[in-house]
Amino acid sequence: MAGTLYLVPTPIGNLGDISSRMTDALNEADFIAAEDTRVSLKLLNHLGIRKPLVSYYRHNVETSGPAIVNRLLEGESCALVTDAGTPAISDPGEDLVRLCAEAGIPVVAIPGPCALVTALAISGLPTGRFTFEGFLATNKKNRRAHLDALRGETRTMIFYEAPHKLCATLSDLQETFGPQRRVALCRELTKFHEEVRRTTLGEACAWYRENPPRGEFVLVVEGAEAPEEAASLTLEEGAARVRQLQETQGLRLKDAARQVAQESGLPKNELYQAALARKGAEA
Ligand code: SAM
Repeated sequence: MAGTLYLVPTPIGNLGDISSRMTDALNEADFIAAEDTRVSLKLLNHLGIRKPLVSYYRHNVETSGPAIVNRLLEGESCALVTDAGTPAISDPGEDLVRLCAEAGIPVVAIPGPCALVTALAISGLPTGRFTFEGFLATNKKNRRAHLDALRGETRTMIFYEAPHKLCATLSDLQETFGPQRRVALCRELTKFHEEVRRTTLGEACAWYRENPPRGEFVLVVEGAEAPEEAASLTLEEGAARVRQLQETQGLRLKDAARQVAQESGLPKNELYQAALARKGAEA
C-alpha cells in the first residue's frame, strides 16, 4: 500500500505558530522533503526531530518529484515542508501534489501559517471575495498582461512581493488601478517588526520612495467598484463614468473606457469617443 504525502506548513516568522499536528506529522513521516534543507534543519533541531531529509525545490522538481513518488509508492510516508508557510502556495509542492494525485497516493494537507490568509484577514479590506495573484512576473510583457487582466477585477487582490521589488510593483499597481485605490501593505507578519500600513497606492508609492522597504511584504489591494453600479448605464452616463475614472484613478482614457465597457457591456469604442467629446466640451 502507498504511503501518504503530508503537506506540513511551518511558521512564517513566529515559532509559537507550530502546532501539535505539524510536529506529529514531522515525527511520524519516514522522511522529510524540504525546499532548503539548511532552513528546515534549524526548525527540526528546535523541535528535537531527527529524520532523513531530501531536497525538493524549484530547480529539481523534475528529478526529485518522481523520486519522492517512487518512495511513496513503495509504502514510505513523506512530510513536505518549505522555508516558511504552506507548501504548494507560491512554493514548491504543487507539482508533487499533482503527481501523487495522478498516482493514487493519499495526500493530507495540514492547515497552518500562510502569509496570504494572514494578510487578508488583517487588511481591513473586504474579505468576502478575493483573488490570490502570487508574485508578478519580472518579464515586462507577462507582467503587463497580468495587470491588464486585473483592471476590472472587483474582488480584493493579494500579491506577494520581495522588498527590493516593492517600489516598482507599487508603481505598476498605481499605473493600473490609479493612485486612489486602497491598499494594505502587510509587512513582517507574526514577527517582532510586524506592521500593517493601510493607505492608497499613490501614498504607498510616495512613502516607500522615501523609506526603503525592508522585510517581507504581502500587498492586499482593494477591488474595482462593483459593476452593478455601472450595469445599466446609458452611453452618456458611461462616458461620464469614464471621465470620473480618469480623474479619480488617473487611468488613461483608453483604459478607463475599457474598464467601463467591461462593467457595463457598452461598446468600448463608442464610450471612448463619447468620453473624448465630453472631455473636449469640458475644456
Ligand atoms: N508558502 C508561503 C505561504 O504560505 O505564505 C509563501 C512563500 S513565498 C515563496 C514567500 C512570500 O510570502 C514573501 O515574498 C512574502 O510576500 C510572503 N511572506 C512570507 N512570510 C511573510 C511574512 N512573515 N510577512 C509578510 N509576508 C510574508
